[in-house]
Amino acid sequence: MSENRIRVRFAPSPTGYLHVGGARTALFNYLFAKKTGGTFILRIEDTDRTRFQEDSLKEIFDSLKWMGIEWTEGPEKGGDFGPYIQSERLDIYKEYAQILWDRGQVYPCFCTPERLEKMRKEKELRKEQHGGYDRRCREISKEEAQKRIDAGEPYVLRLKAPLEGSISFVDGIRGEIETPVTMVDDTVLMKTDGYPTYHLASVVDDHLMEISHVLRGDEWIASTPRHILLYKAFGWQPPVIAHLPVILSPDGGKLSKRKGAASVMDYKRAGYLPEALLNFLSLLGWNPGDDREIMSVDDIIEAFDMNRISAKPSVFDEDKLTWMNGQYMEHYDSAKLLADVEPMWAEKGLPVADFSAGYKEHVVSLFRVRCKKVTEFGENGGYFFKDPEDYDAKQAGKQFTTAVKPAFDKIVEKADGVADWNRAALEGLFHGIADELGMSAGKINPAVRLAVTGVGGGPDLFDMLELLGKDCVKRRVAAASAWIEKNV
Ligand code: GLU
Repeated sequence: MSENRIRVRFAPSPTGYLHVGGARTALFNYLFAKKTGGTFILRIEDTDRTRFQEDSLKEIFDSLKWMGIEWTEGPEKGGDFGPYIQSERLDIYKEYAQILWDRGQVYPCFCTPERLEKMRKEKELRKEQHGGYDRRCREISKEEAQKRIDAGEPYVLRLKAPLEGSISFVDGIRGEIETPVTMVDDTVLMKTDGYPTYHLASVVDDHLMEISHVLRGDEWIASTPRHILLYKAFGWQPPVIAHLPVILSPDGGKLSKRKGAASVMDYKRAGYLPEALLNFLSLLGWNPGDDREIMSVDDIIEAFDMNRISAKPSVFDEDKLTWMNGQYMEHYDSAKLLADVEPMWAEKGLPVADFSAGYKEHVVSLFRVRCKKVTEFGENGGYFFKDPEDYDAKQAGKQFTTAVKPAFDKIVEKADGVADWNRAALEGLFHGIADELGMSAGKINPAVRLAVTGVGGGPDLFDMLELLGKDCVKRRVAAASAWIEKNV
């Protein structure tokens, strides 16, 4: 273990995809470890077998990998190291439950799920907030309990919580939080299936893995007093525990799966870049102390400071994420973008394989300043690979006039005389033709754009004509001239 004692963990339960809130938690832990030279651990909390989903593991790994959040410690797995997986550590939790049993700090509870459910409903009817389990089994003598266990009656193990006073801890972000014991019942630590609950497994692991700081979502605040009691029962020092601010959706409600909180992979599929998503998530509840918004991960690590994590809710503003993504696209490596974009083109049936990588990267570099999301390339770039099959009707009505036809014909006629087919030469050519015909460039240029692309908007016209090449431009402009001949 390194000299540095900062040790943090991200501890997702594999119960579904990794949503953006979970990714924010992973990210803050990762940033804190990076900033302090500490250790970042990934721990899969899969002890709730009823909610376990096999594909969720892959989804979590893929999402973290895509965002570049890498864990730096874990058990050996085939030369590499994997994450810690709680279902592979069941003996450890049993051993620690036994310690509490031997010390008389836990008791077996034989209450059936039906009884517990009835009790819960009655409490709800009485509108009682506090409490939970009525502690009926706490009164059963050791001898009787042993008899029932020996007879094979199913039971859970519950922690004997104090009956008076309050439980307090200092939240690393929110300060002191005090909870009256009436809010905390006797926590179940071991379930009838022999698996530990989240509470036991998480506290035992945080202790054994020497976690120095627990940074987790605010939905765990209510669990922390239970954990504090467990640390006390074991006689252990708890780590610093801090709860990140809630993430709200723009309409004010809590960002939840139902309210459109997408998974990390959904954002990938929707055309967002990992660097942009990471940057955006880093600002949900944290700021660099100045007004910087677009920051590389290295800048974020450099500026990261736990003391500037706010307790105030943060809002997941998707428009801002889209804007940020656009900012990243402008300067993004073309080859890297191409790797994502090419399959989108191919899927649309465009003959991308017939074009060189250099050509395709050039297409990407012309387009990226105009696209806010990677998916927009797929929707728009077809004319770089195929002649337009038809023209936008509204645009054609405006641009394809008998007045513009002679300009088209002149372009076709004079193109062969252009020795160096580049934007400067083309601008010169177009100017010359406009002068010759007594037309303004403002009439010719948009018409040529429509002729070569079939649509109204797009990258800079001359950059585009240069890239498409002489033959292609001649062919397409001639086709547009024929179209005018026939249709206007
Ligand atoms: N397994 C919990 C979750 O799914 C972890 C909570 C914690 O970090 O303690 O979020």
